[in-house]
Amino acid sequence: MTSSFGRFFLPGPTEVRREVLEAMLGPMIGHRTVEMEAVMERIQPGLQQVFRTGRPVYVAPASGTGMMEMGIRSVARRRVLSLVNGAFSERFARIAELCGVELVRLDVGWGEPHTPEQLGDAMAGGDFDTVTICHSETSTGVLNPLEALARVAHEYGAMVCVDTVSSMAGARVETDGWELDFVATGSQKSFALPPGLAFGVAQPAVLERAAANDRRGLYFDVLEFERNLEKSQTPNTPAVSLMYAAAVQMEAIVREGVENRWARHDAMAERTYAWVAEMRDQGYGVDILAPEGYRSPTVTCVTVPEGVRATDVCAAVHARGFVIAPGYGKAKDAMIRIGHMGDHTVQELDALLDILSDVFAEVLAPHG
Ligand SMILES: *Cc1c(COP(=O)(O)O)cnc(C)c1O
Repeated sequence: MTSSFGRFFLPGPTEVRREVLEAMLGPMIGHRTVEMEAVMERIQPGLQQVFRTGRPVYVAPASGTGMMEMGIRSVARRRVLSLVNGAFSERFARIAELCGVELVRLDVGWGEPHTPEQLGDAMAGGDFDTVTICHSETSTGVLNPLEALARVAHEYGAMVCVDTVSSMAGARVETDGWELDFVATGSQKSFALPPGLAFGVAQPAVLERAAANDRRGLYFDVLEFERNLEKSQTPNTPAVSLMYAAAVQMEAIVREGVENRWARHDAMAERTYAWVAEMRDQGYGVDILAPEGYRSPTVTCVTVPEGVRATDVCAAVHARGFVIAPGYGKAKDAMIRIGHMGDHTVQELDALLDILSDVFAEVLAPHG
């Protein structure tokens, strides 16, 4: 780890350790070779531990959105209910719509979670075969109650397609234990890998559904991923260099222990909440967007008072050598987003929060 590690707190991509970056300097190898199969075999056990699954974990050269599209193409048949509470859950709904299924949205406000009761009401008489759920909505910092929502969807006979792009490897996701039918994620958030790999798991029932669907397309055909992975291969040319990085990082994650990794993220989130409370006590008029009990352990959205532009806060932070994000899309100037995920520690986060306290004194104080 270099001394400069610990200054980059975007909620994706996240900071990547030097050891992981250096792994990408390995030579090119043919993708139908035993060497490449060995790389895949190094990656799989760690991925299975993180996903908490006995199923193989697909590795695609794509960003997380690609794996979300694979989920829709594999699972969605005719009528889909999309739970929308921010920009990324909105994207899931868009994918379903553009893949040609009948789409119904269950919208709640940005910053709100979906409750099992709301889902139950929406499912009743809706005849949905699929429900899309975003676990950790990175545009708001809301963590949806995934286990309970999946249970309700199943009670009504639907399968769930889950976006865990910013939660997987930072928050508990029990793919098999919660009977999640299709789970999609990407490399560049809590895995602390460079962007460019997407990971996904499909339960056997999904493969059956996919086999009966002739609009699976080619690139994201789940059956091709499944068939190739039986030989530790991928349907097309894998992102060789990124897979070298993934091999090193997955082994590091196994050494840390998945539950320890979740606990480290919980500790960073708690530290962030305590700091926001401190700032509020000092009269800065800031707050956490997500309600208590529904906060993502990987990203916190802190609302700033009216008259303050979040982009100005981010610029002042940047001038001090650190990076955080403003709000996403339409919420750009209303909040800052701190990505306390990946390989960061509470100690590194503390350095950022000290800087942010100084920035608040400079940028927010005149508005207090
Ligand atoms: C980052 C993110 C995505 C999109 O991922 P890409 O890798 O940019 O395609 C989707 N969902 C959530 C929750 C995310 O945080």
